[in-house]
Amino acid sequence: MSEEKTVCAYCGDVIEGEGIRRGPRVYCCEACVFEGSRSVDCAGRSDASQASLKEEMEYRANPPIS
Ligand SMILES: [Zn+2]
Repeated sequence: MSEEKTVCAYCGDVIEGEGIRRGPRVYCCEACVFEGSRSVDCAGRSDASQASLKEEMEYRANPPIS
């Protein structure tokens, strides 16, 4: 009963399997990666800012329509 569980760095859900690793953090899905990396980018500028900007531009160019 001492198995270590990984939780999403953004929403806090328990991650089954490997999850999505981004630097020191692990997320449960792409949406959490996007939101998590964006908030990190606002708080403390990291070398991920360029990738995060590119992701945001792609997100704006292709808004999720369901
Ligand atoms: Zn999540």
